[in-house]
Amino acid sequence: MSPINLISDTVTKPTPGMLDAMFNAEVGDDVFREDPTVNALEVKVAGLFGKEAALFCPSGTMTNQIALKTHTLPLDEVICDEYSHIYQYEVGGYAFHSGISVNLIKGQHGKITAPQVEAAIKPIADWLPESRLVVLENTANKGGGSYYTTGEVQPIRDLCLERGLKLHLDGARIFNALVETGESPLEVGAQFDSISVCLSKGLGAPVGSVLTGEAEFIRKARRIRKVMGGGMRQAGYLAAAGIYALDHHVQRLKEDNLHARHLGQLLGQMSYVGNVRPVQTNIVIFDVLPPLTAASFLEQLARHGILASPFGPQTVRFVTHLDVNADMIDRVMAVLPKLG
Ligand SMILES: *Cc1c(COP(=O)(O)O)cnc(C)c1O
Repeated sequence: MSPINLISDTVTKPTPGMLDAMFNAEVGDDVFREDPTVNALEVKVAGLFGKEAALFCPSGTMTNQIALKTHTLPLDEVICDEYSHIYQYEVGGYAFHSGISVNLIKGQHGKITAPQVEAAIKPIADWLPESRLVVLENTANKGGGSYYTTGEVQPIRDLCLERGLKLHLDGARIFNALVETGESPLEVGAQFDSISVCLSKGLGAPVGSVLTGEAEFIRKARRIRKVMGGGMRQAGYLAAAGIYALDHHVQRLKEDNLHARHLGQLLGQMSYVGNVRPVQTNIVIFDVLPPLTAASFLEQLARHGILASPFGPQTVRFVTHLDVNADMIDRVMAVLPKLG
């Protein structure tokens, strides 16, 4: 039996339908803006979020880093939750690419509030970084897949408008949130100056993320993508996977979220499990109790053909996705009570 991989929703392989779409893609040189499939993907994503333009990039790290650089100048700072991907998992790129600092907020499950942002905004002084940009993450990865509703974002948006700050969304898993809230991408688009969306997470494409925003923002972003070495040529083969994913793999994210909820409920009943973070989408983060450690628990799981990742000495993360079906979840649920 092949292993059940709960390490990340990045491990998915293209489906036959997706491969077909990729093989049949019409392509051109995208650096010359002549790849019709890349152009179609960019128009599609911009349209979904009600933005003027979009930019196809190799990774979510690149779309985030381009957004940081496009919105800021050296000596500025970005305000974000301490768990943010841009702070935790992008190699400190905010300093490397943009010469900016981070102003970290202790949020709840990776989410921050308008009063917290307001308290973090620095006064203007020669000796202080200038607060320029706020970044929210929806869903929050290290926060356990928690999501913001548009109602929760609006006070932050209002504050940013009032204080002249830009607002960027790291929407690597925005569709995992939207299938739960029932809100539309258009509502999300209206609240942010820029949005980064991953095609290679739950949506199941092999490569790619899209940055969307107003035309002038994307014009600058395109130059920064080029200087980062992210200008791709016949990228339509990859963009075709993204278009296919947006057409076929959005609604099914509800299944992933449901699978995660079931795993979370069962884990909560296990005597060897301590805190299970609230499960809102496709991520389950939980602590195992001594004498277990994350490492020894993962070893036990692996012996049953189940792979997951450590998220701290006592903490484990499960992520559900396109390549984990209901039968596999049943198998995991049958194994969990045997461990400990
Ligand atoms: C995965 C992820 C990204 C981008 O990651 P890449 O691996 O560079 O595509 C950005 N933000 C969050 C929250 C993520 O989970």
